[in-house]
Amino acid sequence: MQHDDVGGPSDSPIKEAREAGVPPVGRTVGPTLNDDRYSRQVRFAPIGEDGQRRIAAARVVLIGAGAIGSVTADLLVRAGCGFVRIVDRDFVDLSNLQRQSLYEEDDVSRNLPKAVAAEAKLRRINSSVQIEAVVDDVNPSTVEDYIHDVDLVLDALDNFETRFVVNDACAKHSRPWIYAAAVGSYGLVMPVIAGKSPCLRCMLGSLPAPGTSPTCDTAGVIAPITHIVASIQTTEALRFICGGMQPENLRLITYDVWGHNFRQIEVGREAMATCPVCAEGRLEYLNGNPLRTITLCGRNAVQLIPAVKGDLDLADLSKSVSVFGAVQFNEFLLKCVSPPYELTVFKDGRAIVKGTEEPAIARSVYSKMIGM
Ligand SMILES: [Zn+2]
Repeated sequence: MQHDDVGGPSDSPIKEAREAGVPPVGRTVGPTLNDDRYSRQVRFAPIGEDGQRRIAAARVVLIGAGAIGSVTADLLVRAGCGFVRIVDRDFVDLSNLQRQSLYEEDDVSRNLPKAVAAEAKLRRINSSVQIEAVVDDVNPSTVEDYIHDVDLVLDALDNFETRFVVNDACAKHSRPWIYAAAVGSYGLVMPVIAGKSPCLRCMLGSLPAPGTSPTCDTAGVIAPITHIVASIQTTEALRFICGGMQPENLRLITYDVWGHNFRQIEVGREAMATCPVCAEGRLEYLNGNPLRTITLCGRNAVQLIPAVKGDLDLADLSKSVSVFGAVQFNEFLLKCVSPPYELTVFKDGRAIVKGTEEPAIARSVYSKMIGM
């Protein structure tokens, strides 16, 4: 079975390229087959010359350039992927260097955005790949700009809110995407091919309530698992691009590296009959506002209102956010002072982030500390 049977838009340039036996007209194809650089990869039979040609013609976007995104970007650029777009809203921080292997101390001292630091490094690794680095927050108003003209979307996000937006946008534009996440020593990867396999909402229903999912900032994370997750995600990407992904290969893969517990879970080939996205075409996260932000003018603060009301255990939350700074709480709210920001979160998940008037920064503070 060819890979277009399980996914890819009908007008996929990869499909056109395969049918024509040549790279698509008008597409920038950097890496060439004659390049000794790819000789070991071409010798690997499931890829071969045909696969390498498809890799060179492929257009991929990475949403996020953190622990998973920086490693996946590195692997795809080394593999000769023709076009790699990297979108990330953050700056390189000293606490990133333990696992985000594209970055260095110099990037921290220069306060470089991750996308910019990643682009510079990746260009030195493979100058023939077309790299587009974008410093931006991916949200309902921007996501379609970044996914509409690529063959494959790779999730390297740190929060469910944006992941649900990506799920909606990929369904709308019939773009395959690969979900990937890691926390602690555990990680998972799942390809989602619109109309051919269950989507994130088929699997999870609605957005988890605020404060119910651990984050790397509260529960920690070790580099071996983020590298393994990125490697599995890259493998799935290469298999998709090279046409080797069969419907039976669409699995949820989970791994706990501390206990060496690897699982492949059948997710079925059918979307859920009750899925708002797959069955009803309702794109609530793309069209709606799962985490509404309101800038509180004159107060240097942003209020965040989740669409799903939570019921936070503030005593529990006080333990996990204490890694960020001094915490006080009562039965109504919790306050954490983590200069230059101060987060006040109410029992229902509503929050106020002081110290910024930028919604993107406030979202980032919220998702790190509360986990959404
Ligand atoms: Zn679905």
